[in-house]
Amino acid sequence: MSITSVPFFRPSIGEEEIAAVTECLRSGWLTTGPKTAAFEAAFAAYLGGGVEAIAVNSATAALHLGLEALGVGPGDEVIVPTLTFTATAEVVRYLGATPVLVDVDAETLCIDLERVEAAITPQTKVVMPVHFAGRMCDMTRLRQIADRHGLRILDDAAHALPAHHQGVTVGKCGADVTAFSFYANKTMTTGEGGMVVTADPAIAARIKVMRLHGIDRDVFNRFTDPRASWVYDVVAPGFKYNLTDIASALGLVQLGRANDFGRIRAERVARYDAAFADLPLILPPRPAEGDGHSWHLYIVQLREDAPVNRDDFILALKERGIGISVHYRPLHQMTVWKPFCEGGTFPQADLVFSRCVSLPLFMAMSDAEQGRVIEVVRDILVGA
Ligand SMILES: *Cc1c(COP(=O)(O)O)cnc(C)c1O
Repeated sequence: MSITSVPFFRPSIGEEEIAAVTECLRSGWLTTGPKTAAFEAAFAAYLGGGVEAIAVNSATAALHLGLEALGVGPGDEVIVPTLTFTATAEVVRYLGATPVLVDVDAETLCIDLERVEAAITPQTKVVMPVHFAGRMCDMTRLRQIADRHGLRILDDAAHALPAHHQGVTVGKCGADVTAFSFYANKTMTTGEGGMVVTADPAIAARIKVMRLHGIDRDVFNRFTDPRASWVYDVVAPGFKYNLTDIASALGLVQLGRANDFGRIRAERVARYDAAFADLPLILPPRPAEGDGHSWHLYIVQLREDAPVNRDDFILALKERGIGISVHYRPLHQMTVWKPFCEGGTFPQADLVFSRCVSLPLFMAMSDAEQGRVIEVVRDILVGA
């Protein structure tokens, strides 16, 4: 049977996920409860322990809570790469602070660490690296820069599960706080959801309070004080960012499959790499020596000697039923962020954006579907 179209993404949801969600629906407990506690414990254990994992309803919420717990507020500056999703920068504005956009390194697509250092001012409080497409930033070097200037690090790991830097898993490799995403098309999903991870008990305590309306249940001892079930204090105007047990039930099953998912994506990447080696394409950045890549996205860039430009390449792919995406139009080109970029230049991100396309790469993609993507890409770039 010949394949006529391949979507950019299709989630990998099996019978086990469906059974887990069904069981939760039948249990009578839908919102944050035992499944969420189990998901948080399993996530912390997956990272090897030594951290607290706090489940929330998106990575955007995770980033917001992380910055809030790091004490970011009006007058502070937070350094963010321009090549990212708008959520990375918008959470800085939630807190009335100023996002300072910095160009990326075209070799890695991660934030350029030399430019990070040049962008630091006395107002800088936090740096937010993005492990782009699942390729880890150089967290060793970034930690050195942050320590030299007294800064905190909140890494946006929305693309990066599972991945590691020099053998140390994401979530434990140099950031003060890490945010993960379980959005529908990420490397594992809860439909919508996220996780904040930190090894700092004070940061974790603040995040837990702010995640749910600023309610501090720990002021009473839950187990010995009979009033603990109904008396509570509110210590801050918090947020409504908790994750449902329905989502956590799904997350528990997906987390159990995360390593298999990662292995499947790596195999698909190897097949694309081999099939595209002779084409006028810049293939995705490799991980640094000693690092592990989650391969959330497979991003190719059209070389100057390609027979078509990026926009025509996308049109040709779409005409032939291949789903694509572009990661990302840089933030400095967006209406809302332009005022924060006056005088700044972002030549690397502009160049990458002008020639990049993300091809389908997902756990549920069949061999035949990937074969079809390869056939169409080769046809457009060699057959033309
Ligand atoms: C998906 C994504 C987010 C936001 O994740 P949500 O869970 O949808 O809030 C943030 N940053 C990056 C880089 C992302 O790709």
